[in-house]
Amino acid sequence: MKGFGVISKGTVAWMEKPDPICGPFDAIARPVALAPCTSDVHSAYEMEGPHLINRILGHECVGELIEVGSEVRDFKVGDRVVIPCTSPSWCYPAIQDSYHQHESGLLTGINFSNYEDGTFADRIKIRSADMNLALLPKNMKPETAVMITDMMTTGFHGAELAEIKFGDSVCVMGIGPVGLMAVAGSALMGAGKIYAVGTRPDCVALAKEYGATDIISYKEGSVYEQIMEATNGNGVDAAIVAGGDLETFYMAFGVCKPGGTVANINMFAEITSFDIPIEYSGGGWLGHKTFRGGLCPGGRRRMERLIAVVQAGRVDPGRLITHRLHGLESIPDALQLMVNKPRDLIKPVISFE
Ligand code: NDP
Ligand code: ZN
Repeated sequence: MKGFGVISKGTVAWMEKPDPICGPFDAIARPVALAPCTSDVHSAYEMEGPHLINRILGHECVGELIEVGSEVRDFKVGDRVVIPCTSPSWCYPAIQDSYHQHESGLLTGINFSNYEDGTFADRIKIRSADMNLALLPKNMKPETAVMITDMMTTGFHGAELAEIKFGDSVCVMGIGPVGLMAVAGSALMGAGKIYAVGTRPDCVALAKEYGATDIISYKEGSVYEQIMEATNGNGVDAAIVAGGDLETFYMAFGVCKPGGTVANINMFAEITSFDIPIEYSGGGWLGHKTFRGGLCPGGRRRMERLIAVVQAGRVDPGRLITHRLHGLESIPDALQLMVNKPRDLIKPVISFE
């Protein structure tokens, strides 16, 4: 098989590897549509470790099955499938205690490009096919479905972690594709005011379409001060962190009311410690503020549920796509787009048809 990945920190290249072996519960797919993620940039250029050496990158994909294991019940060769970026094996007891995202240790639910080769390849192995794959509906474009595999499940998870209630005021810090889906998820969960923080004009326009009521530019003064002014000094019920730097993260605590919730879905790949200024603490950390951060949920039922949201016409994650490329050979260009982040980029997609 051929794939594009990280040789060692900071060096990406094409690589040839033996074809993946399909276990009894596994399936092998060829890509139909792929997308790079900001997390691929973190993996290639910022993170390091033995698991990130000679590793094929990528974790967002819609595929067509070319092989299925002997014990796979619900899928057959030729099926077009939505492949969640978080696709655990589902066979570790830790799942019964906590989260499938951490089935056998921290973040082990996302094996693609971390513990096994990822989706930037001509062959993609999916473990536990029956538990992870969802059929691509006939009337859904593969490129739209790719946006469900990570962007939609992650952004929606931000809204879930924030435990949005009807009428809540929410600040979404960062409106790249992840934050935009957090805006859409918050709106669906019944938020009232949604303050969206970002500056790229296409992102700002889409944030409004997805339900943002107010736009805040972090380039025009402190987000903390702008939110406090907009809320008459009260702050918001919840803040979802989907971009920015450490200061952004700290300010998320500051903008939350007493009893508020900070939900982090941003990946702080290079941070060694947090040092939250005391003025954001909410009364010496006695302000009943909650912090949650989480890797996106995956698995078959999560995909089927999100597909149902899209099929019902409630959200169109395909609106995130701004750049379209074609074929395996365009993977390096697509990744480079995520590195450079031109201002008109929200999300690139690669089609194989
Ligand atoms: P983008 O880079 O496309 O978007 C980042 C956003 O943050 C932009 O809107 C940007 O604004 C905004 N921003 C930049 N600086 C600041 C600042 N100082 N204050 C406030 N906002 C700021 O990223 P993605 O949407 O692709 O990804 C976001 C994060 O989500 C990444 O770290 C990624 O790794 C992570 N992620 C996490 C997952 C999970 O499971 N939890 C899964 C997938 C991704 P501007 O409009 O000016 O560019
Ligand atoms: Zn991702």
